[in-house]
Amino acid sequence: MSDNLSGRRCLWPMWPHSSVPNHEYCGKHKQDGQSYCAEHYARSIRTSEEQKQVFVPRRLAA
Ligand SMILES: [Zn+2]
Repeated sequence: MSDNLSGRRCLWPMWPHSSVPNHEYCGKHKQDGQSYCAEHYARSIRTSEEQKQVFVPRRLAA
């Protein structure tokens, strides 16, 4: 069996929102069907509820 670790890691960004992304992610084992580990999954829910009206994913053009 192959264990694809790169596809099972938490993708929670570890850099502050205001700073330049350094592409360091949490990297913990994520939950099945989720992009984040248990801790960050809970945080993602909380964050989206608190910032519901301003949470608009931006596409980086360049
Ligand atoms: Zn995480």
